Amino acid sequence: MQVIDRVDGFRKELDAARVAGRTVGLVPTMGYLHEGHASLIRRSAAECDVTAVTVFVNPLQFGAHEDLASYPRDLDRDVAIAEDAGAVLVFAPAVEEMYPGGPVLTSIHVAAVSEGMEGASRPGHFDGVATVVAKLFAIAGPCRAYFGEKDYQQLAVVRRMAADLSLPVDVFGCPIVREADGLAMSSRNVYLSPEQRAAATVLHRALEAGAAGLAHSTDLAHSTDLAHSSDVMAAVVASESLVHLDYAEVIETDHEYRLLIAARVGKTRLIDNLGVAKFFDAGSEASGSISTESRLRRDAD
Ligand code: AMP
Repeated sequence: MQVIDRVDGFRKELDAARVAGRTVGLVPTMGYLHEGHASLIRRSAAECDVTAVTVFVNPLQFGAHEDLASYPRDLDRDVAIAEDAGAVLVFAPAVEEMYPGGPVLTSIHVAAVSEGMEGASRPGHFDGVATVVAKLFAIAGPCRAYFGEKDYQQLAVVRRMAADLSLPVDVFGCPIVREADGLAMSSRNVYLSPEQRAAATVLHRALEAGAAGLAHSTDLAHSTDLAHSSDVMAAVVASESLVHLDYAEVIETDHEYRLLIAARVGKTRLIDNLGVAKFFDAGSEASGSISTESRLRRDAD
């Protein structure tokens, strides 16, 4: 395992790997790694010859009153977890190495995708994310890059940026890894007191309740169903006095509904999401449900 803190050194390693005919997998993180990060690293290690993990708490993506200073850090532990999961390189630059001239004058803004939800609650956040990820992609060069669906809107922002700018990086999304009681793993979970930790499971419970409403909807989900589903999520969160809802939304894509939630538990802000496939499986067809696909066809006739 090699730990590199210089931009040039990291770029040279990955260039050399490609010259030697090896494929590169990149897993960008802010460190304080957990099993969610490890799942991304394992996937990269399974699909690529060389897996590099980046550990960088990027100041650009934190708002003035957010937790940049207190964000948990433990590089030795991160290196051990990354190595165990199959990484051979960790790139952990200092802020001065990434932004040697002080504040950046160049910023990447991915319109539309960055709006609403996290974009609305954290102004400037996605510009900071897009800018640092573009920089990491520029340093790493052609590779496959792995991101978690935990940060669903971030994944959409990164995908769109890579496509719009023709960056030589294939972006892959990986499923959310949860604790046994449903709480999505997050480096920020260490902020929670035992009472807050117990209360925080309400995010996942709210998503499940909202998803159940959609899945049992007998008609093609219309905007009223989606609004009802977000009301259900909000009501579940309201039952937990330690948790304050930021937003509960449902969006529709080609193949699924995606329920997204954000809430504050004390000073800690948590996010989570859940996908509901539009196409029911054979089992539910057999039990009498009509698939959304066939409903869509029927409605189109
Ligand atoms: P972070 O260190 O929080 O910036 O996360 C780095 C990467 O790990 C991002 O692509 C996250 O979406 C992903 N990630 C964080 N938590 C999880 C999780 N519980 N399951 C899957 N991926 C995750």
